[in-house]
Amino acid sequence: MSSIDRYAVFGQPISHSKSPRIHQLFAEQTGQCLHYSALEVPAEQFTDAVTSFFANGGKGLNCTVPLKELAWAYAGLKTERAQRAKAVNTLALQEDGSILGDNTDGIGLVTDLIGNHAINLSGRRILILGAGGASRGIISPLLAEAPESIVIANRTIAKAQQLVGEFSEQGKLSACGFNELNTQSFDLIINATSSSLTDDLPPLAKDLLANQGSCYDLAYSNKATVFVRWGLEHNALKSVDGLGMLVEQAAEAFYIWRGVRPITAPIIDLLNTERH
Ligand code: NDP
Repeated sequence: MSSIDRYAVFGQPISHSKSPRIHQLFAEQTGQCLHYSALEVPAEQFTDAVTSFFANGGKGLNCTVPLKELAWAYAGLKTERAQRAKAVNTLALQEDGSILGDNTDGIGLVTDLIGNHAINLSGRRILILGAGGASRGIISPLLAEAPESIVIANRTIAKAQQLVGEFSEQGKLSACGFNELNTQSFDLIINATSSSLTDDLPPLAKDLLANQGSCYDLAYSNKATVFVRWGLEHNALKSVDGLGMLVEQAAEAFYIWRGVRPITAPIIDLLNTERH
């Protein structure tokens, strides 16, 4: 077996993932020696695939759509933020053989919004579209930035209501379906559905975005996602995709695994030039 430390991302679909490229760039930048691959893993094969990965020398895993809640259930130990989110995107083998679960999505998003895009969250009305694993990871870190309110809208309303039940102690939070959004407007709309991956868009009223508001799509693509295009068409101050979040959450995962924090700005710049 190779002596190079092995890492991977599991998900379905996974072929579009930039995580292997990002971690390779982090490794080069920080002088770390590791190998990181992407593996298509359906939910029903998740437990076997993770067990086999760690049993065969794997050191750390990222988990993406639709595996984050399964990864949460798998992890024997969890960080406080993962415990709160009930979703895990990072698994790390510990010295005693146990598996630590963390969630770096929320810190990745907040760092990208505030640090990279200068999108202020304090006092803002925020709409989150979607109530899946990604939403679970971002609600608490967003509430920590003291927005005026967060509304979670989801196709399956019960899942949005469930999140409100879990997180409402931390700030002003409410749930609804897409068709109940008609009379409201928001300073920041975050698309945390996976609909961009299939070039779909939830039904969105034309006045949903407030004047000077911004749009953020957690999904990312080499060309503008359908939600980023919706934002641009509706006069968003900024309408950006989740490439920066991807790099920032990856940097946190890299730090957990390797104890070294990469510098993200040059990596984001490079990836932006590569997609044109
Ligand atoms: P999940 O599979 O856990 O959840 C998917 C969510 O999307 C659910 O709320 C689901 O609604 C909704 N949805 C799916 N298809 C549609 C559709 N056609 N119309 C409306 N709603 C739809 O996925 P995740 O939460 O893990 O990921 C969501 C997105 O965030 C993905 O695009 C993922 O790539 C991206 N992401 C990006 C990150 C980054 O670093 N940039 C990090 C994490 C995620 P319902 O509940 O009704 O099924």
